[in-house]
Order: sequence, then C-alpha cells, then structure tokens
Amino acid sequence: MSAPPDRYAVIGHPIAHSRSPRIHAAFAAAAGQHLAYDRIDAAPEAFEGIVRDFFDSGGCGLNVTLPHKEAAARLADRLTGRARLAGAVNTLARQPDGTLLGDNTDGAGLMADLARLGIAVRGARVLVLGAGGATRGILGPLFEAQPAQLVVANRTAARAQALAADFGATAPAVGGIVHGCGYDALASLVAAGPFDLVIHATSLGLQGEVPPLPQGVIGSASVAYDLGYGAGDTPFVRWARARGVIRAEQGLGMLIEQAAESFFLWRGVRPDTAPLHRTELP
Ligand code: NAP
Repeated sequence: MSAPPDRYAVIGHPIAHSRSPRIHAAFAAAAGQHLAYDRIDAAPEAFEGIVRDFFDSGGCGLNVTLPHKEAAARLADRLTGRARLAGAVNTLARQPDGTLLGDNTDGAGLMADLARLGIAVRGARVLVLGAGGATRGILGPLFEAQPAQLVVANRTAARAQALAADFGATAPAVGGIVHGCGYDALASLVAAGPFDLVIHATSLGLQGEVPPLPQGVIGSASVAYDLGYGAGDTPFVRWARARGVIRAEQGLGMLIEQAAESFFLWRGVRPDTAPLHRTELP
C-alpha cells in the first residue's frame, strides 16, 4: 500500500473561487510529487484554531489568503526576511522540529509575472492601489526594482501613509519619492502626467467595483495590472481599457508564480510555470 499523500491547502474566507488547488495539482503531477492540496474556508475568529488543527494532524503547508495574511504573520514561529518586511504571510511551512515558518511569496510572484510580461518597473512612476496584505507583500520587491516614484493610495489614507513610512524606512532607498495617500490626493500628483504603471491591489473587484480615482491617473501610455483575476476581464482591467491604456493585465500569472515559490519552499523543487501560463484554469 502506498503512503498517504503529504497534505497542503489554501485557507481563506471566501475560498470557493480559489484556483490554487488546480495549480498545485499541476505542479505536483509535473514534478512527480505525491501530495494532496485542498481548500479550507475559515472565518477570522476560527482561523488560528483551524491552522493549529491542520498542522497538529500532520499537515505540511498552507497558503494563506484574504483576509488572514497578517494573522498568519502573528501565528508563525519564525518569519523569512521578506515576510517580516511585509508583516504578512501567504505561505506557512511546517519545519522538521514542528515549528511553523511564515513566508511571503506574493512579491516574488508579482515581479516574476511582470518580467514574464515584459513590464518594466525600473525608472517607472508606479502607483499601487490598496494598502492591505497583498500590498504589504509586493511593496518591498517593487522598491528594490528602483521605480522613479512609488505611490500607495488607499481608501483609508492613514493605512497607505503608514505603509509608505514603514517601507521607506526599512527597504533599500530608491531615488524617487515614496508616498502614501488617499484617492483624492492623487489629483495633485498627476500634474506631471499619468502613472506609467498602475497596480490594483484592493479587494473591491470581488464586488464588481473599482476605486474612485481622479481623472488623469491613467493614460494612453499607462500599463494597468490587476492583482485580481477572473474568467473574463476584471472590473479594473475593463475600467483601464475604457481609458485607452496601452496594456492591461490581470493577476492570474502572479497567482501561478507565487504558487511556484510556495511549492519550492515546501518541496525543494522549482516547478516549470510556462505550461500553466498557456492553460485555461477552470
Ligand atoms: P486585504 O488585506 O483585505 O485588503 C483589502 C484592500 O482593499 C484594502 O486596501 C482596503 O482598503 C481595500 N478595500 C476593501 N473594500 C473597499 C471598499 N469598499 N472601497 C475601497 N477600498 C476597499 O486584501 P489583500 O490580501 O490585500 O488582497 C487584495 C486583492 O489582491 C484581492 O482581490 C486578492 O484576491 C488579490 N490578490 C491576488 C494575488 C495574486 O496572486 N494574483 C495575491 C494576493 C492578493 P481599506 O484599508 O481602506 O480597508
């Protein structure tokens, strides 16, 4: 009789829409890895108990998604440098001594996808919309790629300002301005012209909406990238296309790339992501 598969899962709330099980099953099949990967729905108050039960019963690793990434960072026994910088964890890995390592692969996933798509960050004026767990994960790698300007805008302006201050203080210095603000304040920042790259990282797309942005934020030479993804165009991709952007992409490619980083952390094997980028994921 063969040994039972090593157990992994993605935990979030809601979670039914997650494509992570399909992605990890494809990685495991291609790499000849014997594992099972499920979805776990956990309301915030149940999160910690469910995570403890999962690992106590022999689970090997979890992907953590909305809205639990900051709670996962508090729960982990040890954080990787990039997870500490982010203050958010999207990957938990049980270590041989039974402790939990928390990592954040979102930033690496975004940068790998931007590179795959040929979208430049170095020297670009970059705007990130949203200041939640996902933004915490992507800001460090975006800083390191040396944009000319990096602005974080959010409904709750104070959250964007706090993030910009945190990252400005701890991440390697960049030549340009690091700024956090509310959406209204963007109007005064676009006097120099629209942003080169606008990255949407709010959860508003799940409600079919986009953030209320002033005119001029995005223009015909701008590239739009939505961390959200769906079967057709996301609301933000539709919104950006309607404003004539040169290019608009959604975040399925990032999802595949961040999953590959998690898989590597858990299994020590780096999966080839190219076949999945060419596949329609149900
Ligand atoms: P989160 O921590 O819950 O943060 C939510 C963000 O959305 C905050 O900035 C919040 O603003 C904003 N928001 C929520 N409701 C809003 C509303 N009604 N009006 C305006 N702003 C609102 O979520 P997250 O983990 O950062 O995830 C954000 C998105 O990124 C999700 O759609 C997630 O699926 C996606 N994501 C994709 C990938 C990928 O691999 N493609 C990876 C990570 C995340 P306030 O601070 O004002 O509340």
